[in-house]
Amino acid sequence: MSPPSDAKLLAVADAAAARAYAPYSNFHVGCAVLARDGRVIEGANVENAAYPLGVCAERTAFSRAVAEGYRPGDFVVAAITASPCGGCRQWLLEMGVERVVFRNGGQVLTMTTDELLPESFDSSDFR
Ligand SMILES: [Zn+2]
Repeated sequence: MSPPSDAKLLAVADAAAARAYAPYSNFHVGCAVLARDGRVIEGANVENAAYPLGVCAERTAFSRAVAEGYRPGDFVVAAITASPCGGCRQWLLEMGVERVVFRNGGQVLTMTTDELLPESFDSSDFR
């Protein structure tokens, strides 16, 4: 079976966004991550009355994936219904996703993590 298209992954992300828990911002975001084994892991943003404790859709998707046994480098594409925030760009880099597809300003953009977060901090900076 061929992997889902970027458009299909964005549609999966849209469906995940519909399940977001965002009673404060009412800004629903979804993320669909395609793993190398063909599995698609979904995430949605989850807010909290203590605002800073809310979690973005990308982080819920990757946290779910890691809890299920996936590791950085296991991911091909992350499709997101909105532009990833700065913190999530760092997560996307850490997870080693090959490309990120997201909506921004009425367009669908595809970027690498290096393009999303140039001159980034990563584990090589510990050495
Ligand atoms: Zn984020």
